[in-house]
Amino acid sequence: MDGNASNDESFNIDWDTDDEREIENLVPCSSSSFSVPNGNVNAGSGEGCSSAVSAKVRLIYDMKFPEDLVLKAIEQHGEEDQFESILETVLSLQALQNSPEQQQCINSGQCSSAYNDDLLNVLSDSDSWCESEMNNTTNTSMVDDKRLLALTKMDFSVAEASIAIDRCGPEASIDELTDFIIAAQMARADEAFFKEPPDENKSKHSERKRKLNELEVLKKEKKGAQANETIRFPKPMVGFGVPTEEGTLVLQRSLPMAATGPPYFYYENVAQAPKGVWDTISSFLYDIQPEFVDSKFFSAAARKRGYIHNLPIDKRFLLKPLPPKTIHEALPLTRRWWPSWDTRTKLNCLQTCTASAKLTERIRKALEGYENDPPQNVQKFVIDECKKWNLVWVGKNKVAPLECDEVEMLLGFPKNHTRGGGISRTDRYKSLGNSFQVDTVAYHLSVLKDRFPGGINLLSLFSGIGGAEVALHRLGIPLKNVVSVEISEANQNIVRSWWEQTNQKGNLIHIADVQKLNGDKLEEFVASFGGFDLVVGGSPCNNLAGSNRHHRDGLEGEQSSLFYEYVRILDLVKGMIS
Ligand code: SAH
Repeated sequence: MDGNASNDESFNIDWDTDDEREIENLVPCSSSSFSVPNGNVNAGSGEGCSSAVSAKVRLIYDMKFPEDLVLKAIEQHGEEDQFESILETVLSLQALQNSPEQQQCINSGQCSSAYNDDLLNVLSDSDSWCESEMNNTTNTSMVDDKRLLALTKMDFSVAEASIAIDRCGPEASIDELTDFIIAAQMARADEAFFKEPPDENKSKHSERKRKLNELEVLKKEKKGAQANETIRFPKPMVGFGVPTEEGTLVLQRSLPMAATGPPYFYYENVAQAPKGVWDTISSFLYDIQPEFVDSKFFSAAARKRGYIHNLPIDKRFLLKPLPPKTIHEALPLTRRWWPSWDTRTKLNCLQTCTASAKLTERIRKALEGYENDPPQNVQKFVIDECKKWNLVWVGKNKVAPLECDEVEMLLGFPKNHTRGGGISRTDRYKSLGNSFQVDTVAYHLSVLKDRFPGGINLLSLFSGIGGAEVALHRLGIPLKNVVSVEISEANQNIVRSWWEQTNQKGNLIHIADVQKLNGDKLEEFVASFGGFDLVVGGSPCNNLAGSNRHHRDGLEGEQSSLFYEYVRILDLVKGMIS
């Protein structure tokens, strides 16, 4: 076990990030810590150059940025009415301030041209590659001045506002941006709840909570009578029980009558969906309460998901061999290079995108030149980026994103599961980022083993790379007939190859589009196999969550509304076999 492992099973840990909806550690484009330092308030400092700047630029002064940064940005752009460029530069200058090299430049006033060159580089590159994100962002300005102003007038900080704009995209309304910021503030408040803040931070902490409460009240007033959210996340996120070192903690639940009876079903989606989404999902699935589970209790990486199912919950068991539970157990070679000041023992949620070489280079450069531990601000920058992008230590001053096979292993898939056969690395990360964590899902499905000793007929909707199929196979539950519904050809190929390589004896039938799976087709399957024992599906979460997802339209979004296909098909199957 790792030296820090004593913390791992602690239920008091909550991670800084939440699936792909991290905000706390998120910084626009390039940088390290991105906060407006309290001490640098610049109220009224517009006077010194009021005659030289336009009214718009004066607004930047009113945003209370440090004066020297504003002047530097104005100097760089020169003209009036360059509000957006100046603001962008001020934000970037501010973000760069914490980098030691840049700090030196700013403080000493030397090397300003090199500094400006660096700045331009920073402004022009991105920390991540991710096709959909790049498409969405290339023609999008980093800061939308009107929305930024509106949000700052609502008393959000410039940093919060600009991160929200960056994350929610060019079309996000003020309402959506407000939701986003408040969600992030709440996540931070939760974190603070679990960790006792140091004394000097206490007043800041309570001030933030006070502000948060005020904002909540404001928002409630503004939104009026909105649907009440009844679903609450358990803290810790252990669902109806997870195995712990002390034994298995099992909670009780009673299923609504309508939910009992065949087939068994198992539905999955991201836990932190927009308000009301899980209520709606639950209401369409017999009012069963979701089981919210974080896969950090099963593996070395967090993954917060909600599961609605009608499976029994007693006598669950874990897949063997047990997966590594800490980063060092999972990736032993990283141990040698892991600095003591990086106290992570678990990874954050494995995502569909990965960090760029530019970012890891920037981190290397930030660390070079320090014999011993780097100063606090550099440590913070590095740790924030490492948490945000799940970077691990692979050499002196060298961090790297996880390789695809490492992600496969962390998610419980066999090595090379997604490799070869024509799939690109980008698509591998994407498919893996959307998949089940096999050990977690297997734990829930394990109750089927004794109930179906001869094997099961599985209807696998939105199969992806076959998380459910792999889980059942690893549990030793024979797969008699599997109807796998998956639109991505790359994913279909992955499941097909796995099926062949594991010498499955049953039948695998592929259907591409869930919308084309009609009653007639289902009747045929039911007649031919005698029914389905289990209907599994995790419908797309594209409109519910995600760093690269700019259209968070909730369950009615183009992709996420495919949830209703799950409901439609489950109803049909239930009707046919009951
Ligand atoms: N649980 C899966 C991943 C689910 S992600 C796993 O373990 O890998 C959602 C999946 O739905 C994606 O693989 C996506 O390609 C698929 N999908 C999206 N639209 C679809 C449609 N219309 N019909 C079938 N599958 C679809």
